[in-house]
This record gives sequence, structure tokens and C-alpha cells, in this order.
Amino acid sequence: MDRELRILILEDDSADAELMQRELRNAGITFSAMLVDSREGFIKGLEEFSPDMILSDNKLPSFDGISALDISQKKCPDIPFIFVTGTMGEEWAVETLKRGACDYVLKDRIYRLASVVKRALQEVKERNEHKRAEETIKEHAEQYRTIVSATLFGFLLTDEKAKLLDVNDTYCSMSGYTRKELLNLSISDLEATDKPEDVAARIQRVIESGTDQFESKHKAKDGRVFDIEVSMSFLYSRKQFIAFIRDITDRERVKQELINAKEHAEESDRLKTSFLHNISHEIRTPMNAIVGFSALLGEPDVDAQSRKDYIETIMLSSNHLLLIINDIIDISNIEANIVKADKNEININSKLKSLCNQFIPVANEKKIQLVCETGVPDSDALIITDSTKLTQILTNLINNAIKFTDKGYVKVGCVLRDMFLEFRVSDTGIGIPQEYHNKIFDRFYQVQHTTSRLYEGTGLGLAIAKAYAELLGGNIRLSSEPGAGTSFFVTIPYEKQVVATETVKEKMGYEVFVFPEKKTILVVEDVDSNFKLINCFLAGANADIIRASNGEEAVEIALAEKNIDLILMDIKMPELDGYTAAKIIWESKPDIPIIAQTAYADDKEEAIGSGCSGFILKPFDKKSLLKVIREFI
Ligand code: ATP
Ligand code: MG
Repeated sequence: MDRELRILILEDDSADAELMQRELRNAGITFSAMLVDSREGFIKGLEEFSPDMILSDNKLPSFDGISALDISQKKCPDIPFIFVTGTMGEEWAVETLKRGACDYVLKDRIYRLASVVKRALQEVKERNEHKRAEETIKEHAEQYRTIVSATLFGFLLTDEKAKLLDVNDTYCSMSGYTRKELLNLSISDLEATDKPEDVAARIQRVIESGTDQFESKHKAKDGRVFDIEVSMSFLYSRKQFIAFIRDITDRERVKQELINAKEHAEESDRLKTSFLHNISHEIRTPMNAIVGFSALLGEPDVDAQSRKDYIETIMLSSNHLLLIINDIIDISNIEANIVKADKNEININSKLKSLCNQFIPVANEKKIQLVCETGVPDSDALIITDSTKLTQILTNLINNAIKFTDKGYVKVGCVLRDMFLEFRVSDTGIGIPQEYHNKIFDRFYQVQHTTSRLYEGTGLGLAIAKAYAELLGGNIRLSSEPGAGTSFFVTIPYEKQVVATETVKEKMGYEVFVFPEKKTILVVEDVDSNFKLINCFLAGANADIIRASNGEEAVEIALAEKNIDLILMDIKMPELDGYTAAKIIWESKPDIPIIAQTAYADDKEEAIGSGCSGFILKPFDKKSLLKVIREFI
């Protein structure tokens, strides 16, 4: 006790009071005292003097010790109350103790007072210390609960056999178990590792070093496995383990995604390298034929048959080259996300038949059978879809089927299932092992080792087919058995065309077209060879051809010449481009039809949007050129 001991003395006899104080002082107890002899005095003393101890007589003229005891018990039960009285029967003494008195001393044995007071003070001290210890324990327990429940980590407390003794809510929500369920489990019930020896070794490490951090996996109540990071300690004094646990499933997922992205980037890089290697071969092969045979054509004494053969080879190689270039353009458009479906009507039965006819010569050359099975009645065969893209999907699949088949057959067919059309291209070729079934749809991916160059190709066909099938609202899948063959299935929504609107124009021949009246056509073209080609295509069509080599010249001629019937306008030209030239011409001659000719497929929309009457994509042949011109004059 830091302050001086204060004793409230309830006593009407001042001599007795003095005796008591002397007794205490003689025993070496220092204190200050307040003497009261009435109820009011006693209450005031309790309130204002705030005593540490009460010594009380039993009988006073206007008050009594029992009532004083009752009051002090009510107001301050912890202050020791000692009766100092002349007489006290045993029963009465028991009664006072029951009511809360600490002890009693008879006045004729006042020499006991000091030891009674000392003992009472000692008891108070012990009681206070006990109380403080209890408070500290309570505080620590509260701190423990707060930390355990507030932490973002899961918390587990186990005994030395790893049986769970305590868990927090965070771990309950991580694992999906309730607290009650967990308290019936041990850590080994939660571990999701298939190597129990790892767990045992880990526990041993924690016991040896006191604490350890490691990564592991736990199994949730619903069977889900989650990745965790654990910080575990061993409490030697209690032989208990404490573990703080963090769910790192998301972190692991992100890590895995990064690894996948890295692998994907590396794979893309590898594919691109192999594509570049491949493409140079694919382009050089037809170019070699074109350059070589073109040179041969210029040699003297080439007989008519050889000339015909050379030209045929040049044409074939050019078309092959064009297909490769188109594939590259298609795939870059797909990747740039600028491909749109352009719906029109198509008769799928006729299309399948014409595709098969187109491929029969190649199939014959490889001595394989090409079977066309149109499984849709002719009355249902006219549908609405993007016919160009559908044709390209099927072309790519048939091309592959023939390429990868050396004996047997290739079957092409189509069936109507509910509201979907399913096209099928099956072959009896080399087949595709299961592990490549997804990869072959990646651009540039080829199963066969590229350096062996056993099969031609750039690895774009299926990537384009898949992107187009999805663009048409469908999908593509395959089933295959290595060595036995492959079937590709393309499913697209079935949208039947109700009224046939087959164009009459389509049926017109353009190869040998001659204008009934002479026409004047202004050809705006900066590249000489291109102009020469157009001039040749239009020779014999009864048309006067005027050339302008750039936009300015085009404007000049168009405004000066009265009789120009049509302008064939190149778009990309130095200085004044085709669109600007066209605009200037229309200001004075708004009725002249202008057909845009360009090598950029995506120029079409802009050409039509800026007012051009028609559009033709380079390279074009004679037939397509005459067809588009014929539409306007
Ligand atoms: P490209 O079509 O660009 O000329 P490609 O035919 O090699 O080249 P894809 O059509 O995309 O490219 O096909 C990718 C790969 O899938 C092929 O290289 C081949 O390994 C495999 N493949 C495709 N179709 C078949 C098939 N019918 N039988 C066996 N393998 C096939
Ligand atoms: Mg292919």
C-alpha cells in the first residue's frame, strides 16, 4: 500500500479508542485514524475519509456495530471490518462473521488487536494481488481472442499430437468447417498432401527449431483443395502448436497464369519463327516457278505446247501464292478483330458439289477417292450465311484431308440437326494424336516437324476455319485416330432462305464481252505493269482507254474530256490519292461512275462510303474486271 493506512474507528468511549490506537502504534503500525460515534459520522467517515480498515465497537448510545457492518458491506465490502468490543457471545460472533466481519477482538484482550489488524491487512494485500493476477489473465485472454479473431490469417491451436484445440473464424471460412467440427479433427485430417512423411518431417522441424514457415495444401469440407502458407510455432511450456495460415490459392493461380502466359508467349515466338521459316519456303516455291517459267517464255523457239504448259504452271503458281497471301491477310484481320460476317444466300448442296469437283483433279492425282454426300434435301439447301467464309472453311478442311491422306478416301457431307447444319470432312489419312487436338487450331501450329517439310502449308488453315466458324455463330471440332483417319465437324446455325434470288447477271459470260457502242474509260493507275494488264483485259471490248498516271492528271483529263463513260481509279497514289481526285471530279461531273481499284481488302467500305460506284480488289482477272465495269455502263 503506497499511502498511509487509514483506520475509521467507531467508538463512543474515547479512552477505548485511544487504547486501540496505542496498541497499534506500539506494534509499529503507522496510520491515521478518524473517530466517529454515530450513524451519520460513520457514513461520512466512509465517504470522506475513505478508510482502509474499520474498527468498531458493538454498542453505542445512538448506533450499533451490526448496522455499521451492514452499511460498510453495502458501500465498501472489501474494507476489513473488525469488531473491538467488551463482550461477544460465540453465536453472535459467528453471526457477525457471516455478515462479512473480518474478525473480532475483545477489549480485555486488546493485545490481540495488532496481530488481527496485520493479518487483515495481509489478507487484503493477498486478495488484491489475486485480483490483479486474475485481471491480467483476463486481459491476456481478451487480447488473445481479439488477435485471433481479428487476424486475416487462419489460426489453429493444437496439442502435441496435432489435435485441434482452438480455431478462428477466418480458418472456418477458409475450410468451410464449423468451429465445432474442426475441434473434433486433427491437422492431419486437413492436410491434402499425399506424402504424410512430409507432414511428419515438418512437425519435427517445428519442434526442433521452435518455429517454421512452409507452403502446403489443405482440404476444405467440400473436398476442394486450397494452397496455404503456414507460419507454425511450438509452445514448449504447454506442448502445443500454433499455426497462422494464409490462403494463397489466388496467388498460386496468378502465378500459374503468369507461367502459362510466359509459356504461351514462348510458344508463340517459337511458332512465329517456324512460320517465318516455313513461309519463306511456301512463297519461294511458287515464285520460283513463276520467275523461271516467265523467263523461259521469253526465249526464242518456244513451241506452242510448251508455251501453254509454261503459262499453265505460272497461273497455278500465282494462284497458289495468292492463296497463301490471302491466308496471311485473313489471319491478321482475325487477330485485329476486324472481320465481320457478310451474310448472303448460298445453296449448300451446289456448293459442296462444286467444291468436290474443284478438288477431284488433286484427289485423282493422289489416287484417293473424293466422295460428296449431300445429306440435305435440295428444297432445304438454300441458306443464309456468309458464303465466302463458309466456302473457305470447307476448302481448308478438304485441302487438309487430301493433303494428309495417301490412300483410301475423303468424304465431304452435310446434315441438318435441329436448327443447325453440320458439315463433315472425313479422311482415312494419317490422323492426329489426341494431345494435338486443341493445338492445331492455334495459328502456325503444325503437328509434323516443320523442317522435314513432308507436307506443305503455313499452319493457318485451321486457325482461320475456327475463327470463321465462330464468326458464323458455330463451332468446329474433330475426332481422329492416328493411322486411321480424321473427321472434322463444322456446325453453323441453320437459317433457311425462303425465296430464291439467284442473280441473272451471275450467269452472264464476261470473258468475251464487247460493248455494243464504243465506250471511253479513264484508267487511273500509277504502276505501269498494272495499267498494261488492264489495257490487255479491255482490249477487244470496244472501248477507248485513256491513262492517267496520278490523281492530278486524272482530274485534268476527266474535266477536259467530254465523253468519259467510266473511271477506274487506283486509290493509293502519291500526291493526290484516288478518293481526293474522285471528289474533285464529282464536283463538276457528278454522274461519272468511278470504280475504286485497290490492293487493300479493307478499303471496300471506305470506297463505297465515299461515293464510289463500285470496288474491285487487286489482283483481279479479266472476268471480274469486265463484270464490275458492265454493272455501270
Ligand atoms: P495451311 O492450311 O496454312 O496451308 P497446314 O495445313 O499445315 O497449313 P492447318 O490447316 O492449320 O495448317 O492444320 C494444322 C495442322 O493440323 C497440320 O499441319 C496437320 O499437322 C494437322 N492436320 C490438319 N488437318 C489434318 C488432317 N485431316 N489429318 C491429319 N492432320 C491434320
Ligand atoms: Mg491446312
